[in-house]
Amino acid sequence: MKLVIGNQKAYLTKEQLTDFVKKIKELNNKNVIICPSSIYFGMFDNVKVLLGAQDVSKFDGDATTGDISFKQLKSMNINFSIVGHSERRQLLKESIEDTNIKVRKLLDNNMIPILCVGETIEEKSSGVTKQVIFDEISGALKDVPNNCIDKLIIAYEPIWSIGTGNVPTNDEIDNVIRSIKKFLLDEYNSNNIVLYGGSVNTKNIDELNTVSSIDGYLIGGASTKAVEFLQIIDKCS
Ligand code: PEP
Repeated sequence: MKLVIGNQKAYLTKEQLTDFVKKIKELNNKNVIICPSSIYFGMFDNVKVLLGAQDVSKFDGDATTGDISFKQLKSMNINFSIVGHSERRQLLKESIEDTNIKVRKLLDNNMIPILCVGETIEEKSSGVTKQVIFDEISGALKDVPNNCIDKLIIAYEPIWSIGTGNVPTNDEIDNVIRSIKKFLLDEYNSNNIVLYGGSVNTKNIDELNTVSSIDGYLIGGASTKAVEFLQIIDKCS
């Protein structure tokens, strides 16, 4: 049984999501979390899956135009949020300090951050993948009390794999995921769920599922196509 998290980004219009929701309405699976655009949370009212946010404000709320605060998410019973996604870090220049504030706010409020970490293709070529990831985790966890670190879900997402169709080999994924788990255990005495994310689809899911260290998947593009997403969930259940 693996955890499957869908990151629908800003892909779908209301009409497209209406069709998606219609096709997944029989889904009743506690190991699935869908992160739609926040404007669409209400469209999942009759679907029995957990919902998550794609991001959360680093501020407490009130006068922060355009943001969605943890208080607002909580008031909608949304208890998960992706943080530190590489698209926000690269396109919107979010810093590791921003991610750290978000992680702390979520954990302080009994919410669960889904922390994305991963290397660029240049970092992979230079052989610094693990150091990059350990630095990202340490930065995101600065001043987080040790006793709540095990709540965190980590998503290992090689940046060069997101949306490209290029996936690391099973051995590469296994090696990085085992290192992340060891790092969390050694540094924080914490056992965490670690997902793989990056171009997961119906064609590669069987092979990825043979990697026993992968606790689940963070899925972008394929989580917007109902039939494909349901097939992936089926193979992970
Ligand atoms: C993502 O952006 O988190 C992601 C994994 O995207 P994709 O599955 O489209 O590569």
